[in-house]
Amino acid sequence: MFLRRAVFPRRAAVLVAAAALTATAACSSGDDTSTGSGDTPKVDTSASFKAGTTMAKLKSKGTIVIGTKKDQPGVAFQNAASGKFEGFDIEMAKIVASKLGLDPNDPKQVQFKEVVSKNRETFVRTGTIDIMIGSYSITDKRKKLVDFAGPYYVTGQQLLVKKDDDSIKGPEDLKGKKVCSVTGSTSIDTVETKYGANPVPFDTYTECVDQLKNGSVDAVTTDGAILLGFASKSPDELKVVGDAFSTENYGMGLKKGDADFRSFLNDTIEGAEKDGTWKTAFDSTLGKAGVKAPKPPKVDRY
Ligand code: GLU
Repeated sequence: MFLRRAVFPRRAAVLVAAAALTATAACSSGDDTSTGSGDTPKVDTSASFKAGTTMAKLKSKGTIVIGTKKDQPGVAFQNAASGKFEGFDIEMAKIVASKLGLDPNDPKQVQFKEVVSKNRETFVRTGTIDIMIGSYSITDKRKKLVDFAGPYYVTGQQLLVKKDDDSIKGPEDLKGKKVCSVTGSTSIDTVETKYGANPVPFDTYTECVDQLKNGSVDAVTTDGAILLGFASKSPDELKVVGDAFSTENYGMGLKKGDADFRSFLNDTIEGAEKDGTWKTAFDSTLGKAGVKAPKPPKVDRY
């Protein structure tokens, strides 16, 4: 119920959403240099941390590398005109950076780096990135390799099809159909193992959407929050269908065993939920797609 109402609006709301996101895209594709998102959180200049912690190291280095996505409108997206990153995940990342005493508006202090789904665990483990914030579902399998703070948002898997396709209404209709999703995502596993689809893997959802548009696949599947953003960019061509058929808890991925950093991130998420910055972040990104800010999920300090 929560998922359906909060994340997957009914048809009318989807149409409003499409218009809203299209408008957002239109505004931010010109010479608008804003992030297209909410007010940048205030940098915590008084931030101080126990020596030797990841927080202390990042603060003294004066820079953090944040792995994210760059092609998921509303969630994590790089504006081609300004080069800036925007979306709900980006806002969450900025909140984290500002609590470390780093300025999210300074690209030297806060560097966003595109990391595709299949590389997330490796990049966290090798230290190529300091943290991963990019539609990253917390799963038991991934927890064996990395740790997670959060969840800070819950969405669920849905389907994106051509606007004139009435043959696919939900996952039960996928048997034998060509369904594109991303290598290393939870989405591709689910359609293959649970629904007998014929999976077509690519590295990014943009490539999948291109496959759908050119008729090479029958559907694209991933989190509703992501698909809604793509549908809104091509409202005459594409539509999101059916209810959510999975639960995706978005977390922040960090090196396994870094308990201090994980506590700091969990405190930061909870703090943002309490002081209203979480809601501001949501309203200025996914909220613009007509999605009403849900009650944030409870942080899991496992
Ligand atoms: N949230 C899902 C996952 O972590 C799908 C989206 C993605 O690939 O980033 O696998």
